[in-house]
Amino acid sequence: MAGIKGKVVVITGASSGIGEATALHLAERGATVVLGARRPERLTALCERIASKGGTATYRVTDVKRREDVSQLVELAVEQHGKLDVLLNNAGIAPISLLDELRVEDWENMIDVNVKGVLYGIAAALPIFRRQGFGHFINTLSTAGLRIVPTMAVYAGSKNAVRAISEGLRQEAGDNLRVTTISPGYVHTELPSSMSDPVAQEKGRAAMEKMAIPAAAIADAIAFAIGQPDNVDVGEIVVRPTAQA
Ligand code: NDP
Repeated sequence: MAGIKGKVVVITGASSGIGEATALHLAERGATVVLGARRPERLTALCERIASKGGTATYRVTDVKRREDVSQLVELAVEQHGKLDVLLNNAGIAPISLLDELRVEDWENMIDVNVKGVLYGIAAALPIFRRQGFGHFINTLSTAGLRIVPTMAVYAGSKNAVRAISEGLRQEAGDNLRVTTISPGYVHTELPSSMSDPVAQEKGRAAMEKMAIPAAAIADAIAFAIGQPDNVDVGEIVVRPTAQA
């Protein structure tokens, strides 16, 4: 099925930023969106906003660190709508710091959310996609994985782990499944709030203020990949501000 209308799309990390913008964008184009994140009040408000514009959205409170949460989110989509067309593995955190600071708990959290969270998504959706004979994985990476800079070693590592996993998945996927990765540059979102170091948080916000592009730009690129004909597999997309080095 080409296009966006009528597709059932699960989005993790849908309560703010890129996930929220993508939910709005796809719902406006006739997709049914099933949303996951940890903050129910944000998800309720987003579902209401989508419904008020004539769209269809549901949510399940989901912590992607918990495999059963991710499975139940994906199952909700199939139970309610009879199929799953797209899983957007988008939830992510970026508590960046210099390795010398030994913020080991932050490193572990990034591995748990940014890497294991995506693997739980693959584990939940792959059997469904195989059974259906169609399906599309979209994983949110980062330009931080393309140009590695100080403080971003572990974050970039987590995103590049998912890059490798996505390419392996694409090769194993066969003729019927699609796998897309999207690497945003600086985008206006709440991502700096996931930084545990207040100084890094301030720097992140300042960089965003200086050059970031709106989350809708990423949503648009994701919609492009989804909207292609079934036999067109958009592989890697990079969308960054022109001002980004
Ligand atoms: P936001 O902080 O605005 O959004 C992150 C989303 O992830 C929120 O909805 C948050 O919801 C969710 N999330 C965080 N932890 C968990 C968890 N354990 N379980 C479920 N959901 C979780 O930032 P962005 O929109 O920017 O981030 C989206 C993706 O884009 C991330 O993967 C990020 O790494 C990537 N990215 C962002 C860039 C940017 O400049 N903004 C640049 C490159 C990549 P909640 O707190 O409610 O759980």
